[in-house]
Amino acid sequence: MENTRIRIKGIVQGVGFRPFVYNLAVKHGLKGFCLNDSEGVVIEVEGDPTAFVEEIRNSPPPLARIDSMTAEKIASNGGFTGFTIRESMSVDGRSVLVSPDVAACGECLEEMLDPSDRRYLYPFINCTNCGPRYSIVKDIPYDRPFTTMAPFVMCPECGNEYHDPSNRRFHAQPNACAVCGPKAWLHGKPEAGVNYEAISAAQKLLKEGEVAAIKGLGGFHLACDGGNPGAVQKLRERKRRSIRKGVQSNKPFALMAPDVETIRSFCEVSAEEENALLARQRPIVLLEKKKGARTVADAVAPGNRRLGVMLPYTPLHRLLFHPEGLFKALVMTSGNIADEPIVVENGDALKRLSGLADFFLLHDREIYMRVDDSILRMDGKTGRFIRRARGFVPDVIPLGEEMEEVFAAGGLLKNTFCLTKGTNAIVSQHIGDLENLEAMEFYKETLRNLKNTFRADPKIVAHDLHPDYLSTAFAHEYAAEHGIPAERVIAVQHHHAHIAGAMAEHNLIGGVIGISFDGTGFGEDGNIWGGEFLIANRRNFQRAAHLKYTRLPGGDMAAKEPWRMAVSYLAGSGGVDSLKGFRQRIGPKAGIVEEMAEKGLNSPFTSSMGRLFDAVASICGLRDEITFEAEAAIELESIADTDETGLYPFAIIGSQPLEIDAAPLIRAIVQDVNRGTATEEVAGKFHNTVAEMALKVSMRLKGVYGINEVVLTGGVFQNSLLSKRTKEKLEAAGFVVYMQEKVPSNDGGVSLGQAVVAWERVKGD
Ligand code: ZN
Ligand code: ZN
Ligand code: FE
Repeated sequence: MENTRIRIKGIVQGVGFRPFVYNLAVKHGLKGFCLNDSEGVVIEVEGDPTAFVEEIRNSPPPLARIDSMTAEKIASNGGFTGFTIRESMSVDGRSVLVSPDVAACGECLEEMLDPSDRRYLYPFINCTNCGPRYSIVKDIPYDRPFTTMAPFVMCPECGNEYHDPSNRRFHAQPNACAVCGPKAWLHGKPEAGVNYEAISAAQKLLKEGEVAAIKGLGGFHLACDGGNPGAVQKLRERKRRSIRKGVQSNKPFALMAPDVETIRSFCEVSAEEENALLARQRPIVLLEKKKGARTVADAVAPGNRRLGVMLPYTPLHRLLFHPEGLFKALVMTSGNIADEPIVVENGDALKRLSGLADFFLLHDREIYMRVDDSILRMDGKTGRFIRRARGFVPDVIPLGEEMEEVFAAGGLLKNTFCLTKGTNAIVSQHIGDLENLEAMEFYKETLRNLKNTFRADPKIVAHDLHPDYLSTAFAHEYAAEHGIPAERVIAVQHHHAHIAGAMAEHNLIGGVIGISFDGTGFGEDGNIWGGEFLIANRRNFQRAAHLKYTRLPGGDMAAKEPWRMAVSYLAGSGGVDSLKGFRQRIGPKAGIVEEMAEKGLNSPFTSSMGRLFDAVASICGLRDEITFEAEAAIELESIADTDETGLYPFAIIGSQPLEIDAAPLIRAIVQDVNRGTATEEVAGKFHNTVAEMALKVSMRLKGVYGINEVVLTGGVFQNSLLSKRTKEKLEAAGFVVYMQEKVPSNDGGVSLGQAVVAWERVKGD
C-alpha cells in the first residue's frame, strides 16, 4: 500500500491551515497526519487523496495563500488509526512565510460584544482567522512557545478549544481569555480595574480632553478625542516633531473611527476606499475631507485636504468605541518622540512618553516586532502605499526569478531594507528616518529577526550611492562582518533604485523610460538629483534627461525653507525683484541667499523636482517654511484647482542629457501672481505643466530610443493629482505606464530596487 505526502508552501501557518486540513481529511474519510515544519505544512494520507487535494487547492482558509503544492507517493509503514495533527518540526536552513498581523475578525468581535459569551468585553480575543502574528512571532515554526504568548498558560477552557479540531480556536496560538490571557490596565490607577473596566476609565479621561498613551498591536499610540480642538491642540504642542526647531509641526495626525458610516460624516468614502478601510490589514486610508464637516478638529491635519483614517483593528481598539456614540474619531498617532521609532515596551513608554501623555493604558502581551500603521491612498481600484508596515509585512513580493540572497540596506529617509530569498523579496516594515541611534537599533533588530524567520544569510549587499547615509555605512559594516568581497557590495544610484523597484514589481526586464520625480538623491556627478529621466534596465541606466540644475542655497536648509528655492529659481529667471512684494516679505535674508545662489556659496546644484514644488509654493505666497517633509508640495496639491486645464511654458534644451528649463515657467507664474491670479488656478496650471514635462520629454526619448514603457516613481509621485495627470497624458499619447502598488514610490521603495540591481550586477551575463 502507498501513502501520499503533500507539501504546501506559502502563507499556511497561523492562518488555521492545520485544523482546516484535519476537518477536510475527516470529511473525506482519510487517515494520516499533518504538521507544520519550517517550510510550510506537510500532510501524509492513506488512500486516494485526489478530491481532498482538489478541495485544499480550491478553497483554502480565508487568510491562507498557497504558493506551491506538491504530492508524492511514498511507501506506507503501517496503517494509521485516524487523522491527527502532529507536533511541529523544524527543518534548518528552510523558511516558512510568517503571516502579517490580522485585524480582529467579525466572529470574534461578535463574541466580544455578546454578554453571554465567556469572552464578553475581553480585549485580547482572537482565533485562527485573526489576531497578532508578525508582531509576536519570535521564531518559526509558528507555535505558541515561539511567540510572546509563551508566558500565558492556557486555562482548561482555552486549552479545550485549542485542542478541539472542530473549534475555530483549534491551534490558534494567541488563544486566550480573561482568566488566563493578557490583560490591560491603567498605569498607576489600580482602582480603575482591568480590561474593559480600565478601558472605560480611559474613555472618561479621553472625554475630559486628556492625552493617552495606548499600547496597541505593533507599538504605542498617542490618543485624544479628535472632536475636541483643545485636546488635539494640546497633543500637537507636546508632540514636537517639527523639522524646524521651536516651530510647531503641522504633520497630520491619523484618526481611528468606529465604523465606515461615522467616517462618512467627515470624509468622502468611495466604494474602493471603503474596501481598503475594511480590509483585514486595516491600513490608514487617506480620504478627502467632507466640505463643511465640523466633526473633526482642524488641528488634526491643518492645510491638508485629506485625513488619514483607520478602523479599529484590535479588540482593544474596538472597545475604546464601546458603547456606541462615545467618540466619532480618536486621534491615534504613533507613540514616539520626534523621529525616534514607535515605543513598544511598557517601561520605555512610561519613560519616553511621559511628557506627551496624561495617562497610560498598558497591557502585558509583549510586542516582539515593532510595526507602525500602514498608510495608503486609493487611486481608483489600486492602492498606493505611503507607508507599508502593519498588516502587509512580512508578505513577500514575488520576483519572477530565482535570485541569490541579497541584503539591500535602503535609503536614509522613510527607510526600509530588503532581503531576497529564492524567488521572493521581503521588504521590511517602515523603519523611519535613519538619523538617530534608536532608529538604527530598530533597523538592526528587524534585520536580525527577518534574517532568522526567513533563514536568510545574504552574501550580496546593496546600498545607496550616497557615501554618508547611515544605511550605507551599515552595509559596509555588514559586508566586513560577513567577509563579503568588494565586488559583491554594490552601490546603486538612488533614482535607478526607485525605477528598478517599480520594474521588479511589474516584472519588467528590458529598457524603460524611468521617470523619477523626487526630493533628494545622490547623483553620479556628485550633484543632488531628483528630476530624472533614466533609460534603464535592471542593471544599468543612462541619464537621458533631467530638470536643469539650479542652486540649493544653504544645502539642507533649502529643503526646510522653500523661500530659498524661490530665490534660487527667481535668480535664474526674471530676478528676485520680478516678484512683487517678495523681498519685503522675506526680509534682508533674501538678499544674502540671492548672493549665495549667484556666487554658488554653500549652494550645491540640484535637479530636484521636489524643490521646484517648494519654489512654486513660496512664489505663490502659500508657504515659505515647512514643518515636515513635503509640506509645501502637499499644500500646493491640496489647493490646486483640479478643473484647471491651462499650461505654463517651459523649454527642453541641451542634448544627452536633455534638460528641462523651468525659467519660462517661473516667469509665467510670477506674472500670474503679480496680477493677482487665484493661487488655486496657478497651482492647477503648475501641476498640468509638470505632467506635460513628463510627456514632452518621454516623446523625445521615444523618438531616440524607441521605448514605449514608462515607469513613474519617486516621492513627488505621492502627489495624486500629479500622478493622475501624468498617467493620463502619457497614456493618451500611447505610452504604457507603470506605477508601484506593492511598495511606496517614495524612499520606502528604494531597497527593493537596490536588491534587484545588485543581483543583476553580480550575476553577470
Ligand atoms: Zn477571530
Ligand atoms: Zn483561558
Ligand atoms: Fe527618493
